[in-house]
Amino acid sequence: MSMSIEPRDRLRIAIQKSGRLADPARALLASCGLSWRESRDRLFCYGEALPIDLLLVRDDDIPGLIADGVCDLGVVGRNVLCEQDTERVRRGEASAFRELRPLGFGGCRLALAVPDGWEWRGAGQLAGRRIATSYPALLQQWLQEQGIAAEVVTLTGSVEIAPRLGQADLVCDLVSSGATLAANQLKPVATLLESEAVLAGPVAEFEGERAALAEMLLRRLDGAVRTRNSRLLMFQAQRSAIPALLPLLPDAEEPTLLQVDGADRLALQALCHGRLTWQRLEDLKRAGAQGLMVLPVESMLA
Ligand code: ATP
Ligand code: ZN
Repeated sequence: MSMSIEPRDRLRIAIQKSGRLADPARALLASCGLSWRESRDRLFCYGEALPIDLLLVRDDDIPGLIADGVCDLGVVGRNVLCEQDTERVRRGEASAFRELRPLGFGGCRLALAVPDGWEWRGAGQLAGRRIATSYPALLQQWLQEQGIAAEVVTLTGSVEIAPRLGQADLVCDLVSSGATLAANQLKPVATLLESEAVLAGPVAEFEGERAALAEMLLRRLDGAVRTRNSRLLMFQAQRSAIPALLPLLPDAEEPTLLQVDGADRLALQALCHGRLTWQRLEDLKRAGAQGLMVLPVESMLA
């Protein structure tokens, strides 16, 4: 039996109501052409430009909403998605959601962090220790892979102060800059998972109207994620300078060369994914580029 017995032609996307992923998720969806009316309770936003609605929830609820078919898609940290999937699999249940696309924001890693005073000599040191975490399934799995028997202390918040409170010897927590750990006299020593925000969806394929909508949204998302850090670089050069110029553009995608003013003069345009710093532009100029121009990319459709 499939969820399609529900008479729903619209697509429903769950995003975080407030928190680190809330604004970037909204901005990304808006850049894909979605628009919505803010409702008074702000839990459900009716899609106006497209039949795609938003549900604003806690990030931890997103995988479950997809598993239950209440939502079709969700924007959530890979850390949350992997934790809940690992937990399901440990309980003997089948996977009910999966990562469809990495989205390029909300980057962090799940890491083991030990008190500053520890000299880290490897996982063997953890035997018999107490580790505080909000990610017990991922930690258990990692410990199992390492063949280490340690005690997992599950906490829902303020994991980083657990060692000072005597609740644990070390922690397994999300790290981005490392400032929070440092403020609690902890240092990261091993990475369990590299994370970022992802688009999550069900394991099963969509059917009917929603399949076509999801396909369109994914295509637009791919374009939006690709354009976000891309710039269009344009310049002119003598044909003889091209061999010296191309090595300066290792991040250029499919450069287009056009002939101008006879056979010897070319115009080049290329989509670049790396940073086009003044330094790089000056290097290009020295190698023979003229009339250099860097343009932002508004949208892209492959
Ligand atoms: P909610 O109220 O929705 O449960 P939360 O407190 O669980 O919110 P946030 O702190 O807003 O969640 O973090 C959301 C996600 O942001 C994390 O799951 C993670 O993927 C990502 N993230 C990026 N950097 C960090 C960081 N330094 N610490 C915690 N999460 C981070
Ligand atoms: Zn949460």
